[in-house]
Amino acid sequence: MNTKEMLRTVDELGRIILPVEFCNALIIQKKSQVSVTLENEALCIRPIRHTCVLCGCNTEDAVELKGQCLCSGCIDTIKAL
Ligand SMILES: [Zn+2]
Repeated sequence: MNTKEMLRTVDELGRIILPVEFCNALIIQKKSQVSVTLENEALCIRPIRHTCVLCGCNTEDAVELKGQCLCSGCIDTIKAL
């Protein structure tokens, strides 16, 4: 993977705005959950994906039910039964 860099300013609360280009590339949307790790002297932000136990899709909007992840599409299908 190639490396891209964009400069950002940390605000007074310690927040930064993620570059939209990077969010689009990693499919990070509003309210997406991300993992932040400290790797030597770098912060690494990774999107968290959950795999639906019914259809196998990887999604960030999965709901956990009794320890299993279900995507919104499968939940809608179940509700329609
Ligand atoms: Zn599913």
